[in-house]
Amino acid sequence: MPNEMTFEQFRTRYATEAVCAEALFHARWPDGFNCPSCGHRECYELRTRRLPLYECRACRRQTSLIVGTIMEGSRTPLTLWFQALFLHARPQGISASRLASVIGTTYKTAWLICHKIRHAMSACDSQELLSGLVKVNYGKYGRPYNPTVYRHPQKQPLILGGTVCAEIGITYLKIKQVPDDHLIQDRITSRGSHDFVQKHIDSAKADVTVVIQEFSIHRYRPLLEIASNASNWINWTFSGIGPKHLQSYLDQYCFGYNQLQRKTDSFQILLTHSAATPTLTYPDLIQREDQSAQRKIAYEKLLREAC
Ligand SMILES: [Zn+2]
Repeated sequence: MPNEMTFEQFRTRYATEAVCAEALFHARWPDGFNCPSCGHRECYELRTRRLPLYECRACRRQTSLIVGTIMEGSRTPLTLWFQALFLHARPQGISASRLASVIGTTYKTAWLICHKIRHAMSACDSQELLSGLVKVNYGKYGRPYNPTVYRHPQKQPLILGGTVCAEIGITYLKIKQVPDDHLIQDRITSRGSHDFVQKHIDSAKADVTVVIQEFSIHRYRPLLEIASNASNWINWTFSGIGPKHLQSYLDQYCFGYNQLQRKTDSFQILLTHSAATPTLTYPDLIQREDQSAQRKIAYEKLLREAC
């Protein structure tokens, strides 16, 4: 069932660390405690710290509630993490600066929380392949900055894939950035589309139509509209995103879209994935590959040579 609580109702329901800890415990171990070391099912709960610690009754290993989750290492209270999860689980999303003012943290803390939550959404996406009647199309993020034949560094070719249901439309969606080595200028190479099909579609259970040319008349219109909606949402909510972190925002868009289609309790789904996804550290985040600087230099060189 979809979560129809208002933010105020949510804040009242998850008002204390104890309530949030209990919800996180059930999200992490839905069938009861399971020792990460020996698999034993019984534990002692130690409540001497801010968050409970669980000691395995068989091997005595102590397990923290947040180790192995996206919250690992965080000093931010669970109540604020939960509020951030609730606000991210809504299809409209929230920017880091808005989140900082709503939950009362610094911008940097909110920025990190947002990225860690998106990391859980990406993990959610990676667990499901497209199947059934699947359409695959070219899409792009970024305005058409220039009339030249060369790709502007800010323009990001994308591949969109959707499971199509005749009466409903696209019921499950994936949008992926195309790496530079799968592009020739704006054009996605056959290796690029093959790579998408291999990674994101369960070919044994799918009837796949791939249209990867940017201006082909055979493109599937609902996917074109989704590409445009995703771009507008990123620009409206986050004031535009560079290529370095674009994929995680696309995964967030797809998470919101897919949960809405399925009418699930998106907060509960997000909490479950947040509890099962090892955290993303600050160094991991800033070291994400960013080819845009080299691309900008190459683009300017091409323009100079063309003049
Ligand atoms: Zn154990």
